[in-house]
Amino acid sequence: MPEGDSVWRACAELHAALAGQVLTASDFRVPRFATLDLSGWTVQEVVPRGKHLLMRVSSPEDQRLTIRSHLKMEGSWQVYPPGGRWRKPGFTARCILRTAVADAVGFSLGELEVIRTDQEDAAVGHLGPDLLGPDWDPAEAERRVHAAPDVPIGIALLDQRNLAGIGNIYRCEACFLGGVHPATPAGQVADVQEVFAHAKRLLKANLGSGRRITVPSTGGAVLARGGNAGRSRYWVYRRGNQPCLRCRTPIQHGVLGKPGGEEERDIWFCPRCQPAPPAPPRD
Ligand SMILES: [Zn+2]
Repeated sequence: MPEGDSVWRACAELHAALAGQVLTASDFRVPRFATLDLSGWTVQEVVPRGKHLLMRVSSPEDQRLTIRSHLKMEGSWQVYPPGGRWRKPGFTARCILRTAVADAVGFSLGELEVIRTDQEDAAVGHLGPDLLGPDWDPAEAERRVHAAPDVPIGIALLDQRNLAGIGNIYRCEACFLGGVHPATPAGQVADVQEVFAHAKRLLKANLGSGRRITVPSTGGAVLARGGNAGRSRYWVYRRGNQPCLRCRTPIQHGVLGKPGGEEERDIWFCPRCQPAPPAPPRD
C-alpha cells in the first residue's frame, strides 16, 4: 500500500507534465475502457485524494471526465519525453496518455477507471479527511476513529474511511512518536490528535524528491550517543530487534489485524516507549 506522500508526488509530477496539454492519444489497457479514446481532450489538473490519483480532463465541448487510478502495492505512473523508452515492461502498462510534450504511462495500476467528474464522490466520497488535503479536518477524523473505540489504533489509522493518506510506514512511526502501542483500542488513546499530527508532519516533510525519512538528522540525545543507530531512516519501521533510537530497548515486530484478513499487516514498536494497553477485563 503506498503512503499518501508517494501519491502526492506522483500527482505533482503528472500535473507539471500534463496540465493544459491536449491528449494526442490515449490507450486504456483494461477491458472496460479498451475502446475509449480521449484524443483531443485537454488535461485540466491532476490531484490526489487520499491514495487515489484524479486526472481531470475536458473535451472541446466541455464534457468533464476523471481518470481515477490507485497504485495499490505495485503501481506507478511515469512521465517520459514523447516516444521515450519505458523503464518498465510494456505488458504491465495499463494506461498510456500522449501529448505533444510528454507521455504518461501508468504501470500495474491497482485500480483504473474513467468516470464523470461530477460523480467523483461516488468513487472517493467515502474517504475520511485527507491528511495532505486542503480540507484536513482533525476533529472529523477523530470522530470517525472514535466511532469504533474497540478497534486497535494501528488498524484505525490504516482505514482510509477514517482518515486518508497513512500507509504502514507512517502508521508505525506516528504511533511511536505518540508513545502509543498500535494494539491500543482507539477509544483508550489519550490523545489521538497528537498521533494524527505526527503522521501529517511526517507526510508533509516527505513531499520532496529525496528518500523518505522520518528521523531528523539531528536525532535525539540517545541517538547522538548511540553510534551507528544514527543512520536509521525510521524510528521503528522494519527495525525489529534493533535498539530503539530513544531508549535502546530492542524494537519488537508483530502482526496486527485478523490473520489472513485484508488489514493484517506487520507492525514494529518499542515496548518501552509504547507500553502495551492494559489487558481487557475478564467476565
Ligand atoms: Zn524506546
